[in-house]
Amino acid sequence: ILPTVAIVGRPNVGKSTLVNRIIGRREAVVEDVPGVTRDRVSYEALWNGRTFMVQDTGGWEQDAKGMHRSIAQQAEIAMGTADLIVLVCDGTVGITAADETVARSLRRADTPVILAVNKVDSDKAELDAAEFWGLGLDQPYAISAAHGRGTADLLDEILRQL
Ligand code: GDP
Ligand code: MG
Repeated sequence: ILPTVAIVGRPNVGKSTLVNRIIGRREAVVEDVPGVTRDRVSYEALWNGRTFMVQDTGGWEQDAKGMHRSIAQQAEIAMGTADLIVLVCDGTVGITAADETVARSLRRADTPVILAVNKVDSDKAELDAAEFWGLGLDQPYAISAAHGRGTADLLDEILRQL
């Protein structure tokens, strides 16, 4: 049985784009409309000769209250079922209340957590990622899932901790 990496985070931060980048295919549904990915979908991934499962999550509710509830639920499920969790945030937006809510519960998890700050498409944007140290989840990995920037380093770290 293969180890599982769960990708969690708010709607529209680029979880499905990151999953597609990791699996090297265009299978996870990427949408400009948040909350399109239904429940959890797992795909097989290969990096540096190691095979693992990557689990996309979504289907979160749109209103703030519902979103906070479902983000917490997704994190709870991931903590119970995944071997490693990648929390994805949006570097163009900065830390949101929902990010803080999920980070708080992930800090208490036994499961290892890696923080990815997505949509860091340029060197200039890299500076914005530093504020995510504030989530208390150790080093933020600045990435651009859309362009592949920083994703090799993130994958190396995933396999190091898996
Ligand atoms: P999800 O709801 O978290 O699964 O997010 P999606 O993967 O569906 O992406 C939401 C939106 O963000 C889409 O319009 C993507 O094209 C865009 N997006 C994803 N990754 C990046 C990135 O690295 N840079 C930029 N600029 N946009 C991105
Ligand atoms: Mg999605």
